[in-house]
Amino acid sequence: MAGAGMSGRSLALECARRPAFRDKKILLIDRGEKKQNDRTWCFWSLPGEPVPPVVYKYWDQCLFFGEQGVQPLEIAPYRYAMVRGIDFYEWTEAEFRQYPNVQSIQAGITGLDIATGTVRTDQGDFQGEWVFNSAFTKERLLPDAGDLWPTTPFTTADPDKTSDKAFTRLLQHFKGWVIETATDHFDPAVMTFMDYRIPQKGETRFAYVLPFSEKKALIEFTVFSEALCAPEEYERELSDYIGNILNIDRYKILETEFGIIPMTDDPFSRRQGRVFHIGTAGGFVKASSGYAFKRTQRKLREFADAWEQASVPDERVFRSPWRFRFYDSVMLRVLRDQAVSGKTFFSDLFGQLPPQLVFRFLDEDSTFADELRLLSAPPAWPFFRSALKQIPVFLKI
Ligand SMILES: Cc1cc2nc3c(=O)[nH]c(=O)nc-3n(C[C@H](O)[C@H](O)[C@H](O)COP(=O)(O)OP(=O)(O)OC[C@H]3O[C@@H](n4cnc5c(N)ncnc54)[C@H](O)[C@@H]3O)c2cc1C
Repeated sequence: MAGAGMSGRSLALECARRPAFRDKKILLIDRGEKKQNDRTWCFWSLPGEPVPPVVYKYWDQCLFFGEQGVQPLEIAPYRYAMVRGIDFYEWTEAEFRQYPNVQSIQAGITGLDIATGTVRTDQGDFQGEWVFNSAFTKERLLPDAGDLWPTTPFTTADPDKTSDKAFTRLLQHFKGWVIETATDHFDPAVMTFMDYRIPQKGETRFAYVLPFSEKKALIEFTVFSEALCAPEEYERELSDYIGNILNIDRYKILETEFGIIPMTDDPFSRRQGRVFHIGTAGGFVKASSGYAFKRTQRKLREFADAWEQASVPDERVFRSPWRFRFYDSVMLRVLRDQAVSGKTFFSDLFGQLPPQLVFRFLDEDSTFADELRLLSAPPAWPFFRSALKQIPVFLKI
């Protein structure tokens, strides 16, 4: 595994647990120690769906603040779940210790040889029958990670964006604080899924709130756009939201999270020679939502199943059905061009349709009848116009 983050660990575990892979050696290579809580993963899940046994908290009640004001989202039988990065890393480490054929090494990867399956690192070269890469992308989709997050200016804006052939490349960028308040402010049973009561500034901007107790919550400010904000803007928006919208004036910041997720219809290479690309590097992020956790677990489980049965790995399992890539592509274009604002779009969606239908659609489990209902919710004409503009892109996605 070239990269031992969420996807590298998930695939290593899927393989290690299957008898068919007992005689294979699995090596995880990562430059990081994974001893820090570097992110939190949220997702919705249905009863019985396989979920890592390290969910930090579930919420059954959600609120949506849109153009029509506040609206409770009745999400049952779904539950909204949160996994802390550190819990996931510690749990997978403990699991790997049960399998002598799984080993880890801390090393900086400097290159991949797709013909020989060699991973070049600052600790030497390692060769495998197959390499699963989640560390590199063919070109820079995101700025390099470092202590200086966010590294502005950074933009994915395509200089040729006026051309209808251009793919859409948005970034989902966000900053979050875990805060502790002096007095009770939160209902730990109710999370805020999206709150659009913040200035949109011609982009899609919202906040969300994940309360852990009456006094403690993770609050995130999120933007969908082509370019990052100036570093101080994330903090200003967060403190304005906490002070002016949530009316909290006394609090301590306990933890900070910053992240950037690519949202694009630009097709990713799924395999080159002996190298399979997985996770964000393999295009596993849902282009229209930025969610990747459950989706990655699911794709890798299906991939390992198919590999076990056929005895050879097959990257075709990673690909979503065409119609979902098409919906994502149109949605991205609508958001980029602000043909409909994100605030209007999501307000219409959650105002007119059951959230279960939206979740099913984003999980790519919807039926064609579901999708017809979905298409009736947002303003039809801007979507139709964007779909027409996308025609040159369709055959390439
Ligand atoms: C802060 C944050 C919060 C997120 N929250 C959510 C969420 O709530 N829900 C959701 O569905 N998705 C979320 N995502 C999106 C996605 O689920 C995560 O980014 C996820 O971790 C992607 O998995 P991955 O394996 O592709 O990448 P990673 O988990 O980032 O793993 C890649 C690994 O490669 C290693 N690496 C990179 N370069 C090198 C190198 N040169 N040498 C050695 N190692 C290297 C890194 O150290 C890292 O461990 C979030 C993303 C971020 C950044």
